[in-house]
Amino acid sequence: MPKKKLEHKKLPPDMMSLRVMTRSFRDVQGQRIMTGHRIKQLVNNKIMTKDEAEEIYEQTLGYLEQAEKELDKKVKRIVRKHQVWEWGKHVKGIGERLCGGIMGEFGDIALFPSAGHVWAYCGLKVIKVCPRCGNDRIKIDDGTATCKCGFVGRPIGRAQHRMKGRKNTCNSSLKTLARLTAECLIKRPNPYREAYLNYKQDIIDREVQNGKLIWQKSATGVVTVAHGDASEGLQPINYVCSNDKCKRVDRSGGAAGAPPKCGKCGSDLKETSAYSAIEWTLGRINNMALRWLAKLFLYHLWVVWRRAEGLPDTDELAMKYLGHAEDKDPWAFADQRKRVKV
Ligand SMILES: [Zn+2]
Ligand SMILES: [Zn+2]
Repeated sequence: MPKKKLEHKKLPPDMMSLRVMTRSFRDVQGQRIMTGHRIKQLVNNKIMTKDEAEEIYEQTLGYLEQAEKELDKKVKRIVRKHQVWEWGKHVKGIGERLCGGIMGEFGDIALFPSAGHVWAYCGLKVIKVCPRCGNDRIKIDDGTATCKCGFVGRPIGRAQHRMKGRKNTCNSSLKTLARLTAECLIKRPNPYREAYLNYKQDIIDREVQNGKLIWQKSATGVVTVAHGDASEGLQPINYVCSNDKCKRVDRSGGAAGAPPKCGKCGSDLKETSAYSAIEWTLGRINNMALRWLAKLFLYHLWVVWRRAEGLPDTDELAMKYLGHAEDKDPWAFADQRKRVKV
């Protein structure tokens, strides 16, 4: 994460207009959808007839749609001229708008010396926290964490998120766009989707081997075991704070060496089998996989863009992290049939 706010950096003119235009596009789109809902509501509540609504639609939404189309055209024009698009156009599931939105937010790839910087700016960093109280201000020495609450042991990784009283360190638009990208990439059969499915299976296999149960919740709220050996019955697998105002889930001990008190408020802990206290669910694994996929895509974008600008494009740490994908070459993830090397 660059120290100075990227907003205030001088960007290449193309990138500056790309940023402004893609942001306006998202604003107009949001406005259009909101206005549409509002008119629909008026018709549903019989405050307005359908004909009246259509007239209003012409007067308001018509303009917004027009603006959307204009902006979209301009964004496409800029993105198609960019060298990154030589790769991007072969990736299934990504369009000029999404790619342009992400590129506009980054602005200048020279400001990001590693893929790790890119991930942190997108809010995709993993932060090490105390498993007992969730504190991220812990001392880590040789893989062992020491926390104010008295916990000494292995810290756990948590997804970067906004915290009360702390400055937001990531670009919120990029965080949304990264998630959207991952969701788009898995919609159609392509190498990204395969990598995502493999990653999910790897986590399930790993945790089942660790003796964990993986749960799922049906639409009706019924909780069942999806993977793992549940023959020993549905034992409470976690501890939760008995203080109703706190309800913190304690993930440090499990059955062996249960901690006596809550790390946050000091109340007694109680055993629970409530869904909220379950450690592994299919939903959580899906979230992890989507974050990982977004990172893989952003790493590829970083490599392609850095290469196009003639900047160093190797990041050993990122490659180690992305270990699940065997081939880390961005071109291996582009459509093979139309594969053209630049
Ligand atoms: Zn702690
Ligand atoms: Zn508590």
